[in-house]
Amino acid sequence: MFETAIAGSLPKPAWLAETEKLWPQWTMQGPELQQAKADATLLWIKAQEDAGLDVIGDGEQARQHFVHGFVEQVEGIDFVNKVTMGIRNNRYDAQVPQVVAPLRLKGRVHAFEAQLARKHTKKKLKFTLPGPMTIVDTVADRFYGDKVKMAMAFAELLNQEALALQADGVDIIQFDEPAFNVYMQDAADWGVAALEVAARGLTCTTAVHICYGYGIKANVDWKQTLGDQWRQYEQVFPALAKSSIQQVSLECFQSHVPPELMQLLDGKDVMVGVIDVASDVIETPQQVADTIGLALKYVPMKHLIACTNCGLAPMSREVAMAKLEALAQGAALARQRYGS
Ligand code: ZN
Repeated sequence: MFETAIAGSLPKPAWLAETEKLWPQWTMQGPELQQAKADATLLWIKAQEDAGLDVIGDGEQARQHFVHGFVEQVEGIDFVNKVTMGIRNNRYDAQVPQVVAPLRLKGRVHAFEAQLARKHTKKKLKFTLPGPMTIVDTVADRFYGDKVKMAMAFAELLNQEALALQADGVDIIQFDEPAFNVYMQDAADWGVAALEVAARGLTCTTAVHICYGYGIKANVDWKQTLGDQWRQYEQVFPALAKSSIQQVSLECFQSHVPPELMQLLDGKDVMVGVIDVASDVIETPQQVADTIGLALKYVPMKHLIACTNCGLAPMSREVAMAKLEALAQGAALARQRYGS
């Protein structure tokens, strides 16, 4: 009851990369960098286990950014000549690579860290990949000329890697689709369909994470323009409820998402965001249990997973560690409070 999991990313140690940045530069290269990525992955597996989490991830220590970590391994992309592009409907500018030719995987993308993580935890292992729509929103198209066509091309590549991750022993494959909360109509029209292409043939658990972004200033400012009620999920959840995707991760604590929207995910496992990633204030176990109690009005107990609102990548290690502990302790308290 009330399994605990994180959305995906965790802060990178200062010896691995620049800290508290979304696109941090690595501090070394070559075999040294590979070893450092492995060390950071192991460190966070241990920290998640020690905190008492039930579902463990690699903390995305081996990728610079949640989208570009995948895109770097795709042929047909010019990664050298990046261009500045407004992303998430121009919410903020990013340096993005350009799609210049038909897309093809160069080989495995995440074998190294997935196999490493699998070897070092006996708990459920979740692995994250960017969703097709979010990738399309984070690269510049100079080739396809059609968003949906390009999304489907990326979805095929994601599917290839997802099936390989499953063979590596990953238990849950989660696609991150923050773009669903920006282009709600597109998400319902073709985003969910693209996601199903990416998840085609998987027999492990499948998940999607939809959020209002990392706790960076551009996102915090944007949230202030969204009004008292954030109803973006309302447009996407019905399409997701009909899809084959089994788990949905959403923001809850400290958001303006009306909690009753969770009802739209009937039959799905709901990863309820009980930890705020836009604030360094550490939640108390009581607050976490309260949020779980609120979600219980709309999500059956057996379908409720306690999670973070989004990734913790841009935060300090100390804060992230304390939030992992609050998550586990809050879920334990909720089990006492609400368990039969
Ligand atoms: Zn997120």
